[in-house]
Amino acid sequence: MSNNATIHESRLFVDGAFVDASDGSTFDTLNPATGDLLATVAHATGADVVRAVAAARRAQPAWEQMGIGDRTRVLRKTAELIVRDAEALAQLESADAGKPISDCRAQILATAEWFDFFADISAHLRSDVIPTFSNHLNYTLRQPIGVVGVITPWNYPMPLYGIKLPAALAVGNAVVLKPAEQTPLTALALARLVQEAGLPDGVLNVVTGLGETSGASLVDSDVDMVSFTGSTDVGRQIAARAGQRLIKVTLELGGKSPSIVFADSDLDMAADGALFTFCVHQGQLCSAGTRLLVEASIRDEFVGKLVDKAEALRVGDPLDETTQLGAVMSHEQMTRIERYVGLGIEQGARALTGAGRASVAGLEEGLFYKPTIFEDVQTDMTIAQEEIFGPVLSVLPFTNEAEAITLANDVLYGLAAGIWTRDLGRAHRFAQQVEAGIVYVNTMNLLTPWSPYGGWKQSGLGIEGGIEQAASFTRLKTVWLNLGPDVPKL
Ligand code: ADP
Repeated sequence: MSNNATIHESRLFVDGAFVDASDGSTFDTLNPATGDLLATVAHATGADVVRAVAAARRAQPAWEQMGIGDRTRVLRKTAELIVRDAEALAQLESADAGKPISDCRAQILATAEWFDFFADISAHLRSDVIPTFSNHLNYTLRQPIGVVGVITPWNYPMPLYGIKLPAALAVGNAVVLKPAEQTPLTALALARLVQEAGLPDGVLNVVTGLGETSGASLVDSDVDMVSFTGSTDVGRQIAARAGQRLIKVTLELGGKSPSIVFADSDLDMAADGALFTFCVHQGQLCSAGTRLLVEASIRDEFVGKLVDKAEALRVGDPLDETTQLGAVMSHEQMTRIERYVGLGIEQGARALTGAGRASVAGLEEGLFYKPTIFEDVQTDMTIAQEEIFGPVLSVLPFTNEAEAITLANDVLYGLAAGIWTRDLGRAHRFAQQVEAGIVYVNTMNLLTPWSPYGGWKQSGLGIEGGIEQAASFTRLKTVWLNLGPDVPKL
């Protein structure tokens, strides 16, 4: 196991070397649980981004031609190295993102699993032979897109590198990664590991920096595709700019997912699930179930259980093994949560619990927020429509299945939806009718490398996970071969 000192890097990773920004500029990344400065990190200029993309462009053909076996070995080795350095990576991620250490440990191991899954995916991406004229052969080829720009947010840094990088790399692309400015450190640590695993120079480059500078430069650079996860607003901007150059984009965006609890469900289990989905990672996840639709006949009993459970959650030092809720990412994020909670109260909703900062002894400068549950919410209120990205839940009662579906679909987003019921027919009806890319029945927020998913409506474009994601990092070519002896003639 490495310690933080050996995996800690704060410069750009371009063409296999760690380098300062060309103009020497930097930005700070803070520990949100303590308020301390964690590192001063290189801020990639437009010229640095251009250099990284050019390095990727030069390196890509040889990487593609290396063959599936060799690419597989490098990606498998990366997975092994992530596991080897898991503790140091988890500590670094927890300090940079304010997440509970126990969550970080699990997420680092999950990242290794994504690398393992995609390592040999090219071997499973079959082409087709298409029935055609008897004197012709028509078949398809799947070829890499070329250079992929990857832009990620701060909420799940390492898992998102796992979700995007190995799939793009495995099928023969080169990548330039722009991690979130709030959490750049594990991306640079990972760059060191891919190099140790034998990834040729230039195949993966990491350009740290702000979104509107380094990120925008990457979108406008000579990349062939952009794979983005982040807010819907920025996703729209990126899609518009990519549209100017007609390059492909995949977008994994915001959400306002419903948890729908029917009276026939196991109420304790449903309460645990409904609590988990809006509180995990302090509610800072796109698939958070932040709208609780509950059957009116059990509303008081169910909401009472939920409030008790929310108040029993341990908000605390992310490095304490028993902590369940860590710090909110930044002052900006805290202000956003407080603004939405204020709006909820102003518009007539009633906070049953929370609605304020939590204090953690010894971490007076830390950014902690209490799990918050609102009642008397109408579906058109701002807190029921917009993504807050904090541990804030809106409760909306319903009286029958039709009303539950109408409420579930009454938002612009369509990422995930959870239903809690013992009625199998209702579960399947709901799965068919809900407008969401992922449906959970009596469970929430599961994700594996081999299960494809993608947002509907304003939650995204394209698929992540599974063989579908690997295919999305390829271009399809169709080949016609004349077996002779005739050729088409005028
Ligand atoms: P969040 O609200 O989760 O911070 P953002 O969408 O603002 O989500 O950021 C997600 C990622 O997009 C980050 O890496 C950020 O730096 C980047 N980003 C922000 N604005 C832009 C932009 N205009 N062009 C490209 N990338 C951007």
